Amino acid sequence: MSAGGETIVAQLRARASFLGFSTFGIAPADARPDLPQKLQSALQSGWHGDMEWMEETRDRRESPAALWPAVKSVVMVGANYAPDENPLNRLTDKSLANVSVYAQMRDYHDVIKGRLKDLAGLLARRTGAEVKVFVDTAPVMEKPLAEAAGLGWQGKHTVLLSRDAGSWLFLGTIFTSAELPASTPEAEKCGTCTKCLDICPTDAFPAPFRLDARKCLAYYSVEHKGQIPLQFRKPMGNRVFGCDDCLAVCPWNKFASATRDAKLSARETIRDAGLSDMLALDDRRFRDFFAQTPVKRLGSARFLRNCLVAAGNSGDRHHLPAIERLFTHESPLVRGMAIWAVRQLADTAETEGLRAKTLATETDPEVRAEWSQ
Ligand code: SF4
Repeated sequence: MSAGGETIVAQLRARASFLGFSTFGIAPADARPDLPQKLQSALQSGWHGDMEWMEETRDRRESPAALWPAVKSVVMVGANYAPDENPLNRLTDKSLANVSVYAQMRDYHDVIKGRLKDLAGLLARRTGAEVKVFVDTAPVMEKPLAEAAGLGWQGKHTVLLSRDAGSWLFLGTIFTSAELPASTPEAEKCGTCTKCLDICPTDAFPAPFRLDARKCLAYYSVEHKGQIPLQFRKPMGNRVFGCDDCLAVCPWNKFASATRDAKLSARETIRDAGLSDMLALDDRRFRDFFAQTPVKRLGSARFLRNCLVAAGNSGDRHHLPAIERLFTHESPLVRGMAIWAVRQLADTAETEGLRAKTLATETDPEVRAEWSQ
């Protein structure tokens, strides 16, 4: 390693820390020759569900050089977004509409990207090399590269885990044509622990380090465009966007300090959102309430779909009037889930009355089928 290389790395590390990144490391671009094989077995298993972009971007995802042939080194950074309380505690309060920790704040892509560009600018000025910046915006295998760069290791829950931030780490990536001194890769430190696998409410881990998205509540509540399959509705509980169970239970979180980064801290209005208030959001108020957060991308219809699952699971009949109002919503996703929610809360006479009323006018076959599920 040259003295010049060490100096540049020290400057980059210091700048990364100043910008709010809690971890920093560098990997050679070819550090993970196992990636094509890893990707192939993941795609062959079909565990990515209907996330077709995984297949479509496969060739470019296989290695950094497949995406950009000039790349020599990969700079990886992580930003700690650890919450100040265990999110598992909020699952028992059925009056809450529980949003995953990462989505309770401004979209991290927006926050991290500017900081990453600043860091990449320093690298380009000091070396004269080319740089490219990625925050989950291109087919980059961020987690294995972060492991190679020494930021942490991919836990049995498949998420990158660090000694300092536990499971709560946003990743940013810089590709550069500069050859930089590499960091020491981090070894896997899960040992015999299986807490994340055991807590999963839908048994979505067919094996350690393997996630079947087709069984994952985060996938159904965030990515899936259709109706929530029947077998996942009860396990969803009051989760209306994402699921943190496997992240939150990890023992390594005890070494994480709650983030002090204001831009990566929860908005209290979202963290404490009540289910009654969420069921009453129309499209405009939904977009205002979740402005600049990942939840906004879900759209109000799918968000209401999820809230109706939570209402059906709440055991609280006070939600019935709000649910009934959604019987006439323009989206069949919402109308269908309103029927399911009513059937969880209403008595037999109420259910029969509503059934007759809605079947008289409902024409969508999937919505009508909800009465016979
Ligand atoms: Fe690894 Fe245990 Fe954390 Fe899962 S809960 S990622 S097995 S240490």
